Amino acid sequence: MKFSNLKLTTPYLNHKPIFYEKVDPTPLDKPFLISASQSAAKLLGVDEDLALDEELINIVNGKTKLEGSETFAMCYAGHQFGQFAGRLGDGRAINLGKINGQNLQLKGSGLTLYSRHGDGRAVLRSSIREYLASEAMHGLGIETTRALALIGSDTDVSREKWEKGAIVLRLSPTWVRFGTFEYLNAYGEHDKLQELADYVIDESFPYLKGSEDIYLKMYAEIVKNTATTIAKWQSVGFNHGVMNTDNMCIDGRTIDYGPFAFLDDYDPNFVCNQTDTQGLYSFSGQVGSAHWNLDMLARTLSPIIDYTLSEEVLDDTFRSTYENVYSEIMYEKMGLQTKQDNDKELYLGMLRALGNATIDYTEFFRKLSRFNTNKSDILDICVNREPLDKWLDRYSERIEKEALSVAERHEKMLAVNPKYILKNHILQEAIKKAGEHDFSMVNELLKVALAPYDEHSELEHLCKPTPMKSKNIKLSCSS
Ligand code: AMP
Ligand code: MG
Repeated sequence: MKFSNLKLTTPYLNHKPIFYEKVDPTPLDKPFLISASQSAAKLLGVDEDLALDEELINIVNGKTKLEGSETFAMCYAGHQFGQFAGRLGDGRAINLGKINGQNLQLKGSGLTLYSRHGDGRAVLRSSIREYLASEAMHGLGIETTRALALIGSDTDVSREKWEKGAIVLRLSPTWVRFGTFEYLNAYGEHDKLQELADYVIDESFPYLKGSEDIYLKMYAEIVKNTATTIAKWQSVGFNHGVMNTDNMCIDGRTIDYGPFAFLDDYDPNFVCNQTDTQGLYSFSGQVGSAHWNLDMLARTLSPIIDYTLSEEVLDDTFRSTYENVYSEIMYEKMGLQTKQDNDKELYLGMLRALGNATIDYTEFFRKLSRFNTNKSDILDICVNREPLDKWLDRYSERIEKEALSVAERHEKMLAVNPKYILKNHILQEAIKKAGEHDFSMVNELLKVALAPYDEHSELEHLCKPTPMKSKNIKLSCSS
């Protein structure tokens, strides 16, 4: 199947217009293809080479419509940094329709009813970040929206300085956000809450259909999925940066990549978003923020689900799911196959030691995946050697109790501890080159993003240690 021969449907348009605005994209000038993800295209049943599809650029640019496509922007509200922000909506995203359980959406495709003071555009640098991060998150096995293609253009876009506009074609099984429900609740459209819940069940949780207390069960699934995604973020060192309720996907997947960062040195208090002066969405704060957002959702859904019952679900499910998923991943990352009494203390001790050592989080685990008895390989990359020196002694004793051979353990650990992580300093290099019309690094990064555990010996430069001056970069929301 060829991408441009896809036939879309638009089930979201069966709702009343309060849910959306029908709007046409505004194409960019002189568009050109920067990158396309064949891996994402597979989700749509596309097996022909995207790069050879002569209509791809026009479709991503919103100039040509796929058969059946009717374009629209979705309406939502949201709590931003703890405050209700009123109506937001897709201010620069336009939906094309659905196929194979995936909703296609253009980001950066022009003004909509919800653009407020914005220009409906996305600049090249943030589009490269969103495109690569989506595919990298998928490569790491974390639920996320995907990115099928990225185009650049000659259109000028005003930010702190003049930049060029770009569009990412994104895919997701759902674009409903916590904030979509918040909009309907805040504007007194309580009957529409149920209509949206039915849509969400149909789209994201069809296996619940016909069960009792279906809305409460839907909420429980949202809690479980969200807790699982956050646990996975914590395990790879991902800091989202803008966990407002309009950036919380209803099925729990990662959505809306802005000033995100993958940790350089392990620092639980790291805040990647420059505008987050209070540190509300710090790396370790993500767990509490997700819980708060889920509580907001429970309150929003209270006209259709008894709030005391959803609170019970939240209390019973969130922490336990988070801790189970997180600890299982940490045991795997440490190469532990069996369970022993003090294993939880072992990984908590490891996190404390990492916090005190000043050490790159990703590099530590990759080196631990080859650890036998020689500690210096790991200690040589710490600023402060002592905490990990002691911890590695405990770790050595513990892995003695495992049945696997050293080689088998190393192989298993290398398959769960990524070599390639999309760090900000690497992304900045790729963005700089892209500004000079050299997109080779974007495409190299796509390759390692989709297979981050493999060696890719020809692409070693993409995992070089972060230079001191580029460590722990914070970015603004400007995008
Ligand atoms: P974000 O922080 O990117 O998730 O955006 C928050 C809200 O602002 C969403 O409703 C976006 O659609 C909207 N928005 C962000 N940037 C723009 C822009 N350049 N033009 C129009 N709307 C925007
Ligand atoms: Mg957003």
